[in-house]
Amino acid sequence: MNLYEYQGKELFRKYGVPTPQGFVAYKPEDIVNVEGEVVVKAQVLTGGRGKSGGVKFASSVEEARQKAREILAMEIKGHKVHAVLVEEKLKIEKEYYLSILIDRSTRAPLIMASPEGGVEIESVPDEKIYKYSVNPEIGVQPFVGRILSKKMGFSGDLAKQFTKILINLYRLFREYDAELVEINPLVLSEGKLIAADSKVVIDTDSLYRHPDLEENAEEKTPLELEANKAGYAFVELDGNIGVIANGAGLTMATLDTLLLYGLKPRNFLDLGGTDSVDITKNAFRYVLKANPQAILVNIFGGVTKCDTVAQGIIAAKDEFKIDLPIVVRLSGVHEEEGRKMLADAGIHAFADMRHAIEKLKSIMEGSQ
Ligand code: GDP
Ligand code: MN
Repeated sequence: MNLYEYQGKELFRKYGVPTPQGFVAYKPEDIVNVEGEVVVKAQVLTGGRGKSGGVKFASSVEEARQKAREILAMEIKGHKVHAVLVEEKLKIEKEYYLSILIDRSTRAPLIMASPEGGVEIESVPDEKIYKYSVNPEIGVQPFVGRILSKKMGFSGDLAKQFTKILINLYRLFREYDAELVEINPLVLSEGKLIAADSKVVIDTDSLYRHPDLEENAEEKTPLELEANKAGYAFVELDGNIGVIANGAGLTMATLDTLLLYGLKPRNFLDLGGTDSVDITKNAFRYVLKANPQAILVNIFGGVTKCDTVAQGIIAAKDEFKIDLPIVVRLSGVHEEEGRKMLADAGIHAFADMRHAIEKLKSIMEGSQ
């Protein structure tokens, strides 16, 4: 299982491997604070982003948003970009390469280090890649750091920093059952060695031992992971209508019906069977992060009561200051109360799905 760069860097920080400061943004407007120069990086589960234009620099909020806008519109080697990582830009004096992987021929971990980092390791000549096969019973001791430091050209304090990074990276590799941990480039910046990139691959069969890792065998997007963590079944799609419904069947039917009317859903979100104002309200948080142009809520009230959902919608509109069109279909338990509450709050509410979607269609046509 591949981790995103930002997830790999979270593990690095946990293990004391230095990384730049940064945050994840799902849309340009998520960038509100930029100090000095920053780097804006596509979060996709593939490498070679630098070459494809997925790594850009900026020095103001406006510029960073513009770069994020460009990157979020990209597709890199068939991967749509759904999020960017915004980090302080490092002043790079030199780029190195460091990785640990499982060497199947020796059935042992193999350290690979090179003073020629920042390019694909496949393009580095073999004599410039220093390898060290780790005896798993001994692990990585400081002497391994000293041997490799010498080859890499590190002495004094840099050799100490490199050794510490290597030992910590090996601990991470072992404790997380990794197949690969790679830092490319490991950079020298103002006297410090820092991981400017991360690639971490976890053995999928070991995931039961790492409940803190979000299972991502399906290569979910960062926003999907975030919404799933909060308890929502959530899938990003490529349209512009945010969708909140309850029950997988009704949610699927909602997507189908939107498409039938020539409208494209931006997401699948199943509220599940719950009667909570907060769960309804917070669903909007994730739908809004996907940046839709309108939101359709489609609820069949049972366990989930329509007046509870109406309260959640009104609370969300208030708290998240939603000024996008919201169209709601409420039917089932307490439907009249629910629709009345929404109507009083100025939100379009209908008893059947067709009328709701027709209303949405006319709103979308009016906005074009
Ligand atoms: P990859 O191309 O997908 O492996 O993405 P990387 O994160 O490795 O970035 C590609 C290249 O962008 C690096 O090798 C650096 O040359 C450059 N880069 C990335 N982050 C920084 C930074 O903070 N400062 C500077 N100056 N260059 C950076
Ligand atoms: Mn890289």
